[in-house]
Amino acid sequence: EAAKLDAFDNHERVWHGRDEERGLNAIVAIHNTVLGPGLGGTRVWPHETFEAGLTDVLRLSRGMTFKSAVAGMDFGGGKALIIANSKTDKTPALLEAYAEMLMALNGQYFTGEDVGFTVADADFLRKRTPNVTGTTVGGSGNPSPVTAHGVFLGIKAALKHRGIATLDGVHVAVQGLGSVGWTLCQKLHAEGARLSVTDIDAARMEEAQKVFKATPVALDAILKVEADVFAPCALGGVLSAENIPMLGAKIVAGAANNPLVRHEDARLMMERGVLYAPDYVINAGGLLNVAAELAPGGYDREATMAKVAKIPETLADIFARAEAQKRPTNDIAAELAFERINAARRD
Ligand code: NAD
Repeated sequence: EAAKLDAFDNHERVWHGRDEERGLNAIVAIHNTVLGPGLGGTRVWPHETFEAGLTDVLRLSRGMTFKSAVAGMDFGGGKALIIANSKTDKTPALLEAYAEMLMALNGQYFTGEDVGFTVADADFLRKRTPNVTGTTVGGSGNPSPVTAHGVFLGIKAALKHRGIATLDGVHVAVQGLGSVGWTLCQKLHAEGARLSVTDIDAARMEEAQKVFKATPVALDAILKVEADVFAPCALGGVLSAENIPMLGAKIVAGAANNPLVRHEDARLMMERGVLYAPDYVINAGGLLNVAAELAPGGYDREATMAKVAKIPETLADIFARAEAQKRPTNDIAAELAFERINAARRD
């Protein structure tokens, strides 16, 4: 399995865009375009070193290949990173320079929202380049609510697999109360779930206590909460061989891309009896939504939501296969992606 994953480790192209005057330091990573052009959001994050940023964007773009493939989409894997602080450095001049970079890529890569990159940013870019999705004008807007809906359905599928038919009284520990995490909490709360939450943003935490009667938890304690579900909805790299033994929940299902530091550590979760919903399967809602903008007939909300409704079915299938074969769920998910990409290669 590891060898097969390695074979998917090479990126087709990686572009570095630098404009010192306008403050742009961006990487566009195009992982695999066998199924179609690269599609994935732009992250704006102040990585301390270029290498740390590169590692992040390479992993993310690779994840997009798997996400598109499993969701049955005709897009490849791509992702961009602007190394900058989204609150202080994301000036119009920087975004202008980034739009020029996207134009120079000539349709190999389509982008949209991600951490630090908003609908307003997408709208700004859209006036300068057609290679942007998730816009309000002529687009489908913010993909986060659709991602949150898919994650919500995925959590229910995981609970169902464990014989739990209702969210009433189910305890969910949510890490990250951003665009996706907050909407997810709304949905869980509305169906009677009990919430424990954490975020680096104290105001969000206070609001969650008020609105959802959520229990606030320290940043480093959320993993240990003895909840039914742990929902990572902040950044990636939160689960490792060091902390998986401390996991308090029996299900891990959330929005964060690459929550595992290493793919193979999912085995440790399996051995602890923790059911893991693979990230790119459960969080594909937003991608399905933005991809729909690029369909020949334009965006169709109903058709998109019908595709999102298939996320729990795909997960149920992955859970069943993983159990029958005694293999980690993310190996099964990767296999589904390989099958589709390899079949397209043979065509
Ligand atoms: P966001 O930036 O709106 O929210 C992230 C939240 O996490 C913020 O509130 C932030 O304060 C908090 N946070 C950051 N570091 C933290 C930490 N160490 N501990 C606790 N909280 C922390 O981002 P989002 O759009 O909600 O996305 C959340 C995750 O889901 C990301 O990993 C993203 O890649 C993934 N994702 C998002 C979408 C989407 O449609 N937005 C789609 C697929 C995957």
